[in-house]
Amino acid sequence: MYIPENKISEIINTSDIVDVISESVILKKSGQNYMGLCPFHSEKTPSFSVSPQKQIFHCFGCGVGGNVFSFLMKYNSITFPESVKILARKYNITIEVGNISPEKKKILDLKEGLFRLNKKVMEYFVNLLSQGDQGQIARQYFIKRGTTDKIIKEFNLGFVPDKWDSLVEFYRKLSIPKNVAEKSGLVLPKKSGSGYYDRFRNRIIFPIFDINMQVAGFGGRVMDDSLPKYLNSPETLIYNKSRILYGLHASKNYCRQKEHVYIVEGYFDFLSLYQHGVRNVVASLGTALTQEHVRLLKGYAKKVILVFDSDDAGINAAKRSIDIFINEGIELKILVLPQDKDPDSFIMEYGKETFKQKALQALSIMQFLTVTAIKSHGNSIQGRVAVLDEMKLYLSKIQDSALRSLHIKELAEKLNVDEKAVLEKVRNEHLSSMERKPFLINADESTIDGINEIHESVRREKQMIAMMLQYPEIHKEIKERKVLDFFYSESLKKIGRKALSFDCDKDQFLSQFMANVQTNEEMEVIASLVITDVSDVKEVYDKSVFLMKRIINLRKKKDNTLTKKIKNAEKNCDSDVFELLAKKQNEIRQLHNEN
Ligand SMILES: [Zn+2]
Repeated sequence: MYIPENKISEIINTSDIVDVISESVILKKSGQNYMGLCPFHSEKTPSFSVSPQKQIFHCFGCGVGGNVFSFLMKYNSITFPESVKILARKYNITIEVGNISPEKKKILDLKEGLFRLNKKVMEYFVNLLSQGDQGQIARQYFIKRGTTDKIIKEFNLGFVPDKWDSLVEFYRKLSIPKNVAEKSGLVLPKKSGSGYYDRFRNRIIFPIFDINMQVAGFGGRVMDDSLPKYLNSPETLIYNKSRILYGLHASKNYCRQKEHVYIVEGYFDFLSLYQHGVRNVVASLGTALTQEHVRLLKGYAKKVILVFDSDDAGINAAKRSIDIFINEGIELKILVLPQDKDPDSFIMEYGKETFKQKALQALSIMQFLTVTAIKSHGNSIQGRVAVLDEMKLYLSKIQDSALRSLHIKELAEKLNVDEKAVLEKVRNEHLSSMERKPFLINADESTIDGINEIHESVRREKQMIAMMLQYPEIHKEIKERKVLDFFYSESLKKIGRKALSFDCDKDQFLSQFMANVQTNEEMEVIASLVITDVSDVKEVYDKSVFLMKRIINLRKKKDNTLTKKIKNAEKNCDSDVFELLAKKQNEIRQLHNEN
């Protein structure tokens, strides 16, 4: 659905975020803002703040934030146009239907058609499980695996017999149009060119629900050793594998209650844990975890425990996900089960309590990485150097300096190398990574030498942007002094540039600017920056001039120190450090030349 910009502005101007959020969260006035218990993470004391002046919300606990649209999207797991529709209805603003282009209307209709069809298909598969000799075999299979009837019912598990045209026939009876049938991904065109055949044959069936309880796709498993063991629906208009986690529709409230969630790999891993009362669980279904998955989970739990098989595939999958969790700021633990056990067979054999006991021993990221790095590189001198090289990447990302030095110490002891050597590696890595991802720096925490100034600057850069968004009056001065050129944080610089080129009435600057933000990430950053108040324009102006000077001076000073350090490094033949510093200086020079 295409919504004209003026309609979006109209909705922004008419709607009241306090009014909208009060429908789902109990809000109490507190100073200029309203506070409530955050609906996106579990908490006992309110840290969810809504500002009527700025028309934004921000949670000091979990970091979610944005404007009225982002709230509705996040809260209801809906798209932007859908959130616009809800508000338009609420405030009696008409959006002409004629605005939908015929192509878009076609896609919307098709999506709705697919959801309706999937629901019928699910009911059909469920029915087949209770029918005939073949259904009996499938029921026996569930019994053998220990899956209870209650679980079979709750998750609508089904069965499809050993035929090429069960579903083809079913579609025919329902007179499903050809394009819908093909787009469902459940029947495939015959190679001969005429007619279709079933994708799933002789398999037990798991419907895959999206967060809104709609059937997005299906998975099927054979009941013997034939291959492929598992088969899933292909990606369709309504089944996006990087966004759907199996079981979240059922487990989401348990995840919120427990504040942590187990991620397992397969259908039976999920079902068995759930059946045994470990209900704060989702399954990734063998697809690599994506940033979207993790963001989705973030709405439900603060901590994730990855439960993987101890084989190489499992360990590699866990390793690949680590960065995503670190970047999203979610606490991650990794539970490696004993040899030959997956979560399903483990809990079936030992029960819930033993599983929970085992879960308490889940490794932190660092412990897990150290153990696996030593396992793969060995304990020779080269091996230990390789371990160190691998680990410095991760160590340099730890925000908490006390924690970081503990890990450095631990690793040095484990590898039997000098702690200073480890520290040096980590420091260099940190310096170069900061140039890559400046926004991840938490200004108050790091104490690695020579980095404090940069952190301090980024903190000021944040304040600067916060002021720019609320007081467009200062833009002129910022442009003249070219302050943004001196920013360390690329992401803040980007927001700043956008703000400078955003033309709009100054009273509505923030709300209109936010309405034009494209990514959720940027939305959250902005909300977190502007939620705290700055009192009046005069104060802002004075403070901003001070900030501008500090940002510029710090950067200049830092660049000078860098030159000195390079000379020293040259003198001492410290080639690694020299190379790194020279690279850094070069980058900084380029940055200045660009502007
Ligand atoms: Zn929160």
